[in-house]
Amino acid sequence: MIRALPHDERASGVRWLWGDLGMLPSESISRAGGRIEVVTGCMFSGKSRYLLDRLRQAHEQGLAVVVLKHASDDRYAAGEIVAHDGGRAEAIPVASAREIVERAGGAEVVVIDEAQFFDADLPAVCRHLAATGRTVLVAGLDRDSWGEPFGPMPELAALADEVTRTRAVCARCGAPAEYTQRLAPVETVRMIGGAESYEPRCAACFEPPPAHLRR
Ligand SMILES: [Zn+2]
Repeated sequence: MIRALPHDERASGVRWLWGDLGMLPSESISRAGGRIEVVTGCMFSGKSRYLLDRLRQAHEQGLAVVVLKHASDDRYAAGEIVAHDGGRAEAIPVASAREIVERAGGAEVVVIDEAQFFDADLPAVCRHLAATGRTVLVAGLDRDSWGEPFGPMPELAALADEVTRTRAVCARCGAPAEYTQRLAPVETVRMIGGAESYEPRCAACFEPPPAHLRR
């Protein structure tokens, strides 16, 4: 999906990016060795652990890697990917999908965490990176607190060459969990907060907040 940009944005320093993105239809067929991999699931389902394992593999293979995460995620540390088991890796906080291309530089592997928070340009940006030969590893929540599709994640999953779905264990009954239960009062649609604010629940135990609070 490519949206038209206002002319003042076309004239700005990011013009080259959108010029490249304009070639997407042919690039998306031949990705020049690049690929998009998505890992998605509820909170506490091991997405960050998966990323950290893939990062280690990439380093062992001697690949140039850049690790990015959405800047609004401040659950633990703005500049890190932190798994709930304590593993961590440094990450560059970025505020918009377009900034990702700039930050990716010449990296062969581009890791993007907390992808659900990014704007609607993220799928096009990932396609662009894959079209230029990069492996793009994208991790994010598939559903928000209401159990609804979260941000650009559904579109990313549809575009991906590979999708890994992760599940947690329901905090109520122990069944496989695919929903993130909000325990704290609803103040923003963004799901920011750690173990004190959320817990994994199965579909049967999941209790979404009142629908009118989703905005
Ligand atoms: Zn349950």
